Amino acid sequence: MLDYVGLEADLDSEERLIRDTAREFVDEHVRDDIGDHYLEGTFPTELIPEMGELGFYAPNLEGYGLPNVSETAYGLLMQELEACDSGLRSMASVQGALVMYPIHAYGSEEQKEEWLPALGRGEAVGCFGLTEPEHGSNPSAMETTAEPDGDEYVLNGSKTWITNSPIADVAVVWARDKSEDGDPVRGFLVETDRDGVTTNEIHEKLSLRASITGEISLQNVRVPKENRLPGVEGMKGPLSCLTQARYGIAWGAVGAARDCFETARAYATDREQFGKPIGGFQMQQEKLAEMATQITTSQLLAHRLAELKERGDLRPQHVSMAKRNNVRMARDQSRIAREMLGGNGITADYSPMRHMTNMETVYTYEGTHDIHTLILGEDLTGMQAYQ
Ligand code: FAD
Repeated sequence: MLDYVGLEADLDSEERLIRDTAREFVDEHVRDDIGDHYLEGTFPTELIPEMGELGFYAPNLEGYGLPNVSETAYGLLMQELEACDSGLRSMASVQGALVMYPIHAYGSEEQKEEWLPALGRGEAVGCFGLTEPEHGSNPSAMETTAEPDGDEYVLNGSKTWITNSPIADVAVVWARDKSEDGDPVRGFLVETDRDGVTTNEIHEKLSLRASITGEISLQNVRVPKENRLPGVEGMKGPLSCLTQARYGIAWGAVGAARDCFETARAYATDREQFGKPIGGFQMQQEKLAEMATQITTSQLLAHRLAELKERGDLRPQHVSMAKRNNVRMARDQSRIAREMLGGNGITADYSPMRHMTNMETVYTYEGTHDIHTLILGEDLTGMQAYQ
């Protein structure tokens, strides 16, 4: 596996163990079937509890049966899952960073005890409802409301593009709380079997096909007041979750690119044209050299993020830079790898084109590439250019 500047040497034994466990899990249980899942537009849901048993959901959190591993170990896990498929990493990212993290950070003790162990073991599935049909890049304009009524809230609105909503037991829904001045955004835990909740699946995606995506429609959905996340108010709530998930994406995208590189390198060594392996031609070598360089610089950025996160110095803007850079890198390099495989590269027998189409989603979700550009632009100039 590509590790050109020897980052492996700096990993501790726990980090190696977690990386190897994820790599083995992928090789033994997912890699052979992932192409079929992609073609069929399905996710291997039977593996959800197994991923839980192996500690793949929010292992960097503490308490409630969670192992509190290092941020590097967590990043390596994301890298290995996405080296298989972005859909697999998305499952772990949503469950861990977008559902368990807000419950852990902002939930009441009862909410934590009810949900964290079950979500951690993969016995329950969660989803994160922020995006609305009319509000994607600007979620602060959201229209979903939570009206107080006695000791309940009544939720109305619709969310779309929600990873795992059709199979989720609980949704973290971000809504305007009408009980307070200014209708601040608040998080609500909404069990998906409540009256008035529907979670239709979005079919015919051409990207991230091995992942289940759906809507959440809320029509007069009643939840007890205790279902509100008490610890956070305003857009800081959802945005802080996104920082956690984007951190995992910055690592994961490197995994997808690495898998493309390894596939292309093996193919170039094996495939002969004009009497010799294509890897012996200068043009193919230039592609491999560039790919290896881009992957290595992205790996370094991911490792640096882990150090900053570990010591509490990570800013959301750092994460924006890494998400923006590493996903664009994976998007570009997966296309080069696909190209090196010739006609075979357009089949589901090889991973690069699957990674390449997945990257269209990864480039768009968790803040589009453009939005991260604007976040960095504001940080660098002090002037915001969103509107
Ligand atoms: P828009 O916001 O309409 O953007 C369209 C284009 O305009 C983009 O290129 C964008 O960069 C550009 N643009 C927008 N504003 C500006 C500006 N100010 N300046 C310059 N350019 C701008 N959401 C969830 O809440 N939970 C999930 O689990 C989830 N999973 C997803 C899974 C998939 C497969 C996909 C595709 C999306 C998912 N999303 C999820 C939604 C995702 O986060 C949004 O698609 C994303 O935020 C972009 O919003 P949008 O699609 O409405 O595009």
